[in-house]
Amino acid sequence: MDDKKLSLRSHQAVWHPCTQMKHHESSPPVVISRGEGVWLYGQDGQRYLDTISSWWVNLFGHCNPRINATIIDQLGKLEHTMLAGLTHEPVVALSERLSTLTPGNLSHCFYASDGASANEIALKMSFHYWQQSGFPEKTQFINLQNGYHGETLGALSVTDVPIFRQVYAPLLRPAHPVPTPDWRYAEAGETPETHALKAAAALESYLAQHHASTAALILEPLVQGAAGMGMYHPAYLKRAREICDTYRVHLIADEIAVGFGRTGTLFACEQASITPDFICLAKGLTGGYLPLSVVLTNDTIYAAFYHDETSRGFLHSHSHSGNALACRAALAALDILEQDNVLETNRHKADFLNQCLQPVQAHPDVRHFRHCGMIWAFEVNTPTPDFTQCFAQKGLEHGLMIRPMGNSVYIMPPYIINEEEMAFMAQGILHTLNEI
Ligand SMILES: *Cc1c(COP(=O)(O)O)cnc(C)c1O
Repeated sequence: MDDKKLSLRSHQAVWHPCTQMKHHESSPPVVISRGEGVWLYGQDGQRYLDTISSWWVNLFGHCNPRINATIIDQLGKLEHTMLAGLTHEPVVALSERLSTLTPGNLSHCFYASDGASANEIALKMSFHYWQQSGFPEKTQFINLQNGYHGETLGALSVTDVPIFRQVYAPLLRPAHPVPTPDWRYAEAGETPETHALKAAAALESYLAQHHASTAALILEPLVQGAAGMGMYHPAYLKRAREICDTYRVHLIADEIAVGFGRTGTLFACEQASITPDFICLAKGLTGGYLPLSVVLTNDTIYAAFYHDETSRGFLHSHSHSGNALACRAALAALDILEQDNVLETNRHKADFLNQCLQPVQAHPDVRHFRHCGMIWAFEVNTPTPDFTQCFAQKGLEHGLMIRPMGNSVYIMPPYIINEEEMAFMAQGILHTLNEI
């Protein structure tokens, strides 16, 4: 089967995510037949560097031999069983390990299959906790301006990205977005830190007025991914934790994109030394291999559901909750993180890539060049109306799988990227910029 035919069949039969299907008339989906390390291979032997870790999920490259071996081992033992009434070694081992690795006292793990569902779980648990703890009027959630938490109706209700939200607004819960600490919006004279503190002050005045009806604040710690990799100072998180404590409001840390070392620490919350009431993890959890997500919470919240009455329990379920293959993949990913001293190695890689990207940073059309851990982003000043598609298309010609969000170009490579590949990526981005 040649690529063109398969691509056409895909256009007919597959309704691709986050895609205007008509655009595929002029730029059909790229057929990928195998992956190895940072590379995705087309059938014609053409290869593309996966600069965005396949939508931010892939941490250790495609077809990683260690993760593959672990999944194959598990496949011979148990592929899946339901998690109500039953349990298995991989889910227990993973839960214990995540409890140890996450900040503070988050020691109870609830599993789902994707990020949006993890956020739904945290929202429902928060609401239900207040119902059972004498605060039945706490029924509202607040989120940051430009925040993204997934696209099911509950998660979309706390998402503030117009392109995903606008059409569905009549289906959603009332929105209560509070100002973002993203320093791209800093005014003249403000530092990222003073800008973050100003946003925190706005959060405080909101809660001073509305705490009685507010169950939780949900946010993406340090980096607002779908906002175009908007970055902010950890001072915001520190203040947000204090303010939520003062006003008896839960803090939900959506670390779905930033968890597992992406921002330079294992979890982004560590950079503000805070413990959220809920932490939501997905994407890189399995090294990007299999759909798995988890919400961790503390003893206090867990205890409010622990009762003789069934109806006081958290009666939420997903068919593939705690899937054994996915849990083993996650355990293998955690092994690699530890055994290969990945956080430390990434710091050296980031220094190297920063050097490679200097000509990009200095480019006259580039604004707000920014970097956090293993995430880089910048805005491109351009009159090109279909910049996003143009850049992605030109990127392919330079061997890069890259997908800007609006005018924000970002890279978020797999951690196993080497110096030669980083230099190739930086060169390709510079050439792509120059040709647009
Ligand atoms: C991707 C993402 C989600 C949604 O995860 P899905 O697995 O796509 O449902 C939620 N929150 C953040 C911060 C994300 O980056």
